[in-house]
Amino acid sequence: MRPHGGHLGGPGRSTTPGQAGFGAASSNVKFDPPPPLGAHMALTWLRPESLDDDSWRRSAACRTSDPDLFFPVGTTGLAVDHIRAAKAVCEACPAQAACLEFALETNQDSGVWGGASEEERRVMRRQRRRARRTA
Ligand code: SF4
Repeated sequence: MRPHGGHLGGPGRSTTPGQAGFGAASSNVKFDPPPPLGAHMALTWLRPESLDDDSWRRSAACRTSDPDLFFPVGTTGLAVDHIRAAKAVCEACPAQAACLEFALETNQDSGVWGGASEEERRVMRRQRRRARRTA
């Protein structure tokens, strides 16, 4: 087991979702059209205030888990076992709903969050985007 740090990284992270700080909220960033050269560019940050509440991390079942389970490298072989083990931890986690919502809203694109794999969250995000467009 690796020592737990306080930063986010890619595969091979040293923290689990329940331990990590905020990730990039790329899905909540709205870019205006590019300005002419020499002008200032406007960036609108649409991050909901609810995402600033990370109290769910205090009850995260993965706080003492091996980060390699939650951020396996690849989607075959040993990674499949790691993903399955991570999802088992998530199943018993009282923070699962909040964790999944955070991952979806902040566009966490790697690892297992809220009991969902990267691909499962991609599908969920697509479904949400589709639902928003038709609402
Ligand atoms: S749902 Fe899973 S990834 Fe999220 S905090 Fe709980 S154990 Fe960690």
